[in-house]
Amino acid sequence: MSASVRSILEVKGRDVVTIGPNVTMAEAARTLDEHKIGAVVVVGMENRIVGIFTERDLVRSIGRSGAGALEQPVSAMMTANVYRCSESTTVNELMEVMSSRRFRHVPVEESGKLCGIISIGDVVKSRIREVETEAEQIKAYIAG
Ligand code: AMP
Repeated sequence: MSASVRSILEVKGRDVVTIGPNVTMAEAARTLDEHKIGAVVVVGMENRIVGIFTERDLVRSIGRSGAGALEQPVSAMMTANVYRCSESTTVNELMEVMSSRRFRHVPVEESGKLCGIISIGDVVKSRIREVETEAEQIKAYIAG
């Protein structure tokens, strides 16, 4: 039985760094740096998710348009069709989605409300913990 997103959020907390769609990419870059994170969730009215903007999008926009891109709004480069999960999603499901769709961040939503974010680092940490627990159990079984 794979661990759930809920078990990760109970340890890391449910705070999510968000920005509005009209914020410039330069400001978004400052936000990523300030919080030492790789992605921000873009929210509109009533905190509804309208996109996700990650360091990958920032690099892509500078690669295409040069430094001038930094003054454009994040809405120009964010991904608007955001894949989300719920607290009951399993870590194994997320691992599958992140590797097949090639992204490293998934916001968590419950009843239309943003209530957390899972990064690939959280998924890896959770899997390592599971594997270590399994190994301990097997060792204890063999010894006893
Ligand atoms: P990442 O690996 O998370 O930096 O994201 C790589 C690309 O996928 C970027 O263009 C992101 O905007 C996009 N992306 C990241 N997370 C998601 C998500 N949960 N749903 C849809 N697109 C995403």
